[in-house]
Amino acid sequence: MAAKILVVEDEAQLARLIELELDHEGYQVVVKYNGRDGLEALKKEEFDLVLLDIMLPEIDGMEVCRRLRDFSDVPVIMVTAKDAVPDKVEALDMGADDYITKPFAIEELLARIRALLRRKYNGNRDKNDILEIADLVIDKSKYLVKRGDRELELTKKEYDLLVYLVENEGIVLSREDILSNIWGYDYLGETNIVDVYIRYLRSKVDDPYENKLIKTVRGVGYVLRNDLK
Ligand code: CA
Repeated sequence: MAAKILVVEDEAQLARLIELELDHEGYQVVVKYNGRDGLEALKKEEFDLVLLDIMLPEIDGMEVCRRLRDFSDVPVIMVTAKDAVPDKVEALDMGADDYITKPFAIEELLARIRALLRRKYNGNRDKNDILEIADLVIDKSKYLVKRGDRELELTKKEYDLLVYLVENEGIVLSREDILSNIWGYDYLGETNIVDVYIRYLRSKVDDPYENKLIKTVRGVGYVLRNDLK
């Protein structure tokens, strides 16, 4: 789904230019020409990002942002008319996530929008605690592990080990890394416990499936990686 962006800008020509550029990039765009209409739109609809001019009729951008923060944490890029430092500081104080100074190159605006949307989506994923690789899904909030449609029954240690591997996707982890992270530095038992648990984990997570995710790196340790992309 295309990200939906609200543009609040009273200069009709500039608003039109931004609208065309964002539309061209594949975003859904809604334009409002004063602070009051902008705020109303934000109350009624969900947006993924707001581009908010500071100098606006009715309610100025700072005030829109301040009121917006009472009910929404949608990412906001403030547009300042001049390169005035106090403006920027105030914008960030009001809860803006970023600011851009007029006149700006459209490429810079697009880069800032992309960065902010990326942050938003990553943030959401962290909040929901969903880890995904290939058809393996871990929902940390529910302590749930699935491959495809099937729920997997893991012990606490197997679960911790799997989460550690998935969170370090593509990174080769030594037995010592795994041991100290999952069993703790003060673990005094056999180091082959890692290999034993990797075997348990594989029997549940990999053996019944075509696409094996846990790989052995000879002489080093293990890595979780999806080779079928
Ligand atoms: Ca303006």
